[in-house]
Amino acid sequence: MSDTPDTQQLLRQLPSVDKLLRLPAAYDLAQRYGHALMTDALRHTLDQTRQAILDGRAHTPMPATLVQNAREWLEELAAPTLRPVINATGVIVHTNLGRAPLSQAAMTAVQAIAAGYNTLEFNLETGKRGSRAVHAEQLLTRITGAEAAAAVNNNAAAVLLMLTALCQGKEVIISRGQLVEIGGGFRVPDVMAQSGAKLVEVGATNRTHLRDYARAISENTAAILVAHHSNYKIIGFTTEPSLAELAELAHENGIPLLFDQGSGALLDAGRYGLEPEPTVLDGLEAGCDVVAFSGDKLLGGPQAGILVGQEPLIQRLKKHPLARAVRADKMALAALSATLLPYLTVQAEAEIPVWHMLAYPLAELEATARAWADQLAEAGLAARVTDGFSTVGGGSLPGTELPTKLVAIQQPNVENLAARLRQRPLPVIGRIQADELLIDPRTVLPEQEEALLQALVAVTR
Ligand SMILES: *Cc1c(COP(=O)(O)O)cnc(C)c1O
Repeated sequence: MSDTPDTQQLLRQLPSVDKLLRLPAAYDLAQRYGHALMTDALRHTLDQTRQAILDGRAHTPMPATLVQNAREWLEELAAPTLRPVINATGVIVHTNLGRAPLSQAAMTAVQAIAAGYNTLEFNLETGKRGSRAVHAEQLLTRITGAEAAAAVNNNAAAVLLMLTALCQGKEVIISRGQLVEIGGGFRVPDVMAQSGAKLVEVGATNRTHLRDYARAISENTAAILVAHHSNYKIIGFTTEPSLAELAELAHENGIPLLFDQGSGALLDAGRYGLEPEPTVLDGLEAGCDVVAFSGDKLLGGPQAGILVGQEPLIQRLKKHPLARAVRADKMALAALSATLLPYLTVQAEAEIPVWHMLAYPLAELEATARAWADQLAEAGLAARVTDGFSTVGGGSLPGTELPTKLVAIQQPNVENLAARLRQRPLPVIGRIQADELLIDPRTVLPEQEEALLQALVAVTR
């Protein structure tokens, strides 16, 4: 619309920031959010209103409305962007939804440590400086049987540290089939380049033989690296030497075998009908000298990168300057220790949420899905129970699907339904298939059930 005299008059009627600040409601907001932020909020609101008047979309609003708009702007600004959600996707280690949920014990440990001072680097016996190394490392060596262990910020950092400290300026042999991207742009070859190690690729994408590795070994070789294909599977005509064969070859040549295991599985997922993958312990047993893995995939703990293996090598990693730059923080160490303990006491399946979800019996999933569908039916929402699959996700156990029971909700506009579920105070993330919204009970935490059902009923009203 044009700049008519009428528009000019409306603009002149807009109150000033100072005048608005003198209103009691604005004063209260300034007390809560601070004067500077409140001034910003009012300026923003006035700018928006001015633009709306120029566009012919608005008349001069009441001052109270302007303050209310400023309040909404402030509330949105102050609202956290990192929020809890209900994961109804059935993807257990969902990278976009924060990977592994922590166990009760891990949360209690984090809270106890984070809220005050602690013994992060303090020895209570001597009253002197202690080592942060003791916290998770004793449990790690006991559980894995490795000589030594180290915990860092994440597995990408663990791999970078391992290659930098052990292979910088020298060659590392890796199979072409393992030059993988593992999400978030993390590519094994790029990390190796960062470490200053020279990559020597052997074999073909689908087939690499022991003799390919043997031929590539020279006096410049620092190590052989195996990176687990944690998020893809080469199917068909494939071959790769076993970890044990590679360990033997490496040791005959006086070099270490390094294994980026990835998932951090300490238990055999094969017993739940999953595709077997080498666990951390399998790697050590096969003779790998250092094994690197994540803390927040199948280990089921906080974000962390863990290195276990031969004492002299782990010591070299710990002494490298990069170790200081990638060290784990107190909250991660607290959560990691509390996550590890149930592995030692053989309680992991009961206490670690990701293993609990993996082990969820189909009959129980069905009972839960039926109970939910019945409750939804009582509320007038048509839902059926159907067969489907959950996945492990998070670059763990590729090609692995777990039979599950889903609650399927049919709606004319299912995308819209999913969007409204995402806008809930506790957002619900489901899966869409054809014209149905699918809810997988496997990944819904027991304490979220109530909120999930309420949300489903509310959005379909
Ligand atoms: C996930 C993964 C990584 C990266 O681990 P983060 O903990 O995400 O840093 C590295 N290597 C492999 C094989 C992985 O699966």
